Amino acid sequence: MPRIFSGIQPSGELHIGNYLGAVKNWVDLQHEMETFICVVDYHAITQAFEPEELRQRTHGMALSLLAAGIDPEKATLFVQSHVREHTELAWFFMTLTPVGELERQTQYKDKSARMESVAAGILNYPVLQAADILLYHADTVPVGEDQIQHLELSREIARKWNARFGEGYFPEPQARLTPTRRILGLDGQAKMSKSLGNTVALLEPSAAIWDKLRPAMTDPARVKKTDPGNPDICNIFQLHKAFTPPDTVEQVAAQCRSAGWGCIDCKKVLHQGMEEVLTPIRTRAEALQATPKRVAEILGDGASRARTVAQRTIAEVRQKMGFD
Ligand code: SF4
Repeated sequence: MPRIFSGIQPSGELHIGNYLGAVKNWVDLQHEMETFICVVDYHAITQAFEPEELRQRTHGMALSLLAAGIDPEKATLFVQSHVREHTELAWFFMTLTPVGELERQTQYKDKSARMESVAAGILNYPVLQAADILLYHADTVPVGEDQIQHLELSREIARKWNARFGEGYFPEPQARLTPTRRILGLDGQAKMSKSLGNTVALLEPSAAIWDKLRPAMTDPARVKKTDPGNPDICNIFQLHKAFTPPDTVEQVAAQCRSAGWGCIDCKKVLHQGMEEVLTPIRTRAEALQATPKRVAEILGDGASRARTVAQRTIAEVRQKMGFD
C-alpha cells in the first residue's frame, strides 16, 4: 500500500483554510493509503515560542485533527518530538546538503529577509522536513504548490544519500497536489492566515462565523443589490464551492449574475452549507474536550507505531553509515 506522510505545525487550532487546503484531503487519503500525520512541534520552535503555550497548541492541534476526521484506527497520528529519530536523521542529512541549496529555498529567502538574525534552524528547516518524510519511507506527500520546492529538496537528499550509502534505500517521494487551491481569507486579499486575522476557525461557533461572513469581501463591483455580480471573482463563491452542494452552487452563480440574490442572501446559503460540514466536527471536538486523556492516549499509540518504523530506519541508516 502506498505510504503518505504529512506534517502540520501546532498553531493551536485549525482554520477552514487548513481544513480545505490540507486536512480534508488527508481524511480522504487515509482510506486508500497508509497514512502518517505528524504535528511538527520541532519545526514550530524555529519561531518565538513559550513552552506552556507550545504544549497546549500541540494538544489543540491534535484534537482538531481528530475532530476533523483523522481516524486513529486508519492513520498514525503523532507528535514529532515524541519520535526522537527525526532529529538524528536530519543531522545525517545536513552533512550531505550544501548551504547554498538551502539558501536558495524561496521560503528561507522570504523568512530570513524579515529577520535581523537568522537561526540555523530556519535554514535547516527543509532538511528536517526531508527527515520527517524519509524516516517513514513515505513515497507520497500531499502538498500545496508552495511546498513543491521543499519536496524537491527531499528528493535530492534521498538521491544523494542513496548514491553514497545504499542505492534504492530511500524512495524519492512524489508530490500529490492537494485538490483545493489556495484559500483566501475573508478579506478576499491574502491567503487565509491566523496572523492576518482573516480566518474562520474550524471549531468557531455558528453565530461567530456568521458575524465574520456578513461583512466579508465580495465582488467589489456589486454596490447595490440590483447590480449583477461576477461569482468568478468573489471569494464567497469559492467558499460555496467547498461547502455548498454542487446543484446549489450552480444556483448561487445564476442568482449572482442575474442580481436575483443580494450578497447577504448568498452568504446565508453559504453559512447553512458550512454548518452542515462543521457541526459534526464541532460535536466530535466537544466529545474529545470532555475526555482530554483520550487525545493523549491516541498520541501515545501513534508515537509508538511511528517509533517502530522510525527505529528500524535509523538502525539501518546507522549500519549503512558505519555507526554500529
Ligand atoms: Fe459573491 Fe454571492 Fe455576492 Fe455574488 S451574490 S458577489 S457570489 S457574495
